[in-house]
Amino acid sequence: MSSLNGEREFRINIAIDGPAGAGKSTVARKVARQLSYVYVDTGAMYRAVTWDMLNQAIDAENETAVLERMAALEVELVPGEDGQRVRLSGVDVTDEIRSLAVSRTVSRYAQIEGLRAKLSSAQRQMALRKGVVMDGRDIGTTVLPDAEVKIFMTATVEERARRRFRELPQSGETITLEQLEREIAERDSLDRSREVSPLVCADDATVLDTTHMTIDEVADAIAHLAEREIAQLG
Ligand code: C5P
Repeated sequence: MSSLNGEREFRINIAIDGPAGAGKSTVARKVARQLSYVYVDTGAMYRAVTWDMLNQAIDAENETAVLERMAALEVELVPGEDGQRVRLSGVDVTDEIRSLAVSRTVSRYAQIEGLRAKLSSAQRQMALRKGVVMDGRDIGTTVLPDAEVKIFMTATVEERARRRFRELPQSGETITLEQLEREIAERDSLDRSREVSPLVCADDATVLDTTHMTIDEVADAIAHLAEREIAQLG
């Protein structure tokens, strides 16, 4: 249904979950653009907090210190000219949070219940007005269990490592494909086995194995599911 000024009146929320490197963020960004929705990268929020904890030399084992520090932090996702920017208490950390140091430790901080509670609550706030494509690990199960469209994106660990390898920031940090594959498998295992909001496929999610699909094919499949839902519900 369209309004007079051509904007969509009826909007839904789309949750995209899956393991590291499945291509969630590229696809979610594309779907959001197609539908004129807002893209929310929840992984970036966990990364921003992790970046700060590393800077403050606060270990993930020290939950009390993590939560104390957490209380002073504000994580914001703001639209920028070249995509979404991530701000931590007013400081732009968009590039810094992609470092290997952050990738290697983020899952340890992401296990902490109080930290997850704060970020999940901020994520729910962002989706209140609908029209959001949100990607992460627990969106369809915990953050937005009522999302109208839920996708669980997977791909073999070899393919996911290859994709991440191609996307590595040109920061001078070096890692081999084999090392990356090991680290991704380790991160998945921590994300899947944690007690609070582990990475699992929601019962009502559509599973997309993207190993042999292009980004465009995946994005089109999701946009199609979304359009169908909008037509039915709107
Ligand atoms: O999506 P990305 O790979 O940037 O996420 C980094 C890490 O943040 C994940 O491996 C996971 O430990 C954590 N995360 C999470 N829940 C989310 C999003 C990310 O636990 N909703």
